[in-house]
Amino acid sequence: MSKCGKCDSDISFMSVLNTPNPFKLKCGSCKAPIALSLVSAGIVAGILMALISAILWHFYGSEGFWIKVVLPTVLIAEGLYFAAIRTGLVKVKPAQAE
Ligand SMILES: [Zn+2]
Repeated sequence: MSKCGKCDSDISFMSVLNTPNPFKLKCGSCKAPIALSLVSAGIVAGILMALISAILWHFYGSEGFWIKVVLPTVLIAEGLYFAAIRTGLVKVKPAQAE
């Protein structure tokens, strides 16, 4: 289970959802930056991006494309990414001493 290196609280789905950079999260409780391992995060993000592109490409132009396809696909991908972080598939870098 991945946790914040500073305050030891679990990484929340909101911090995954809110980050502009998928490799760098912000702890929901203490706001400390949480760096993810570039290798494991890169692999998982790469697979998810490929999946998203394949799904979007497949359904491109269908009725209600943005609402019915893009939105749920992106949300599911975020959920899977979050699950990968929580299960430790995507590793959190140990907190760096400043
Ligand atoms: Zn924290």
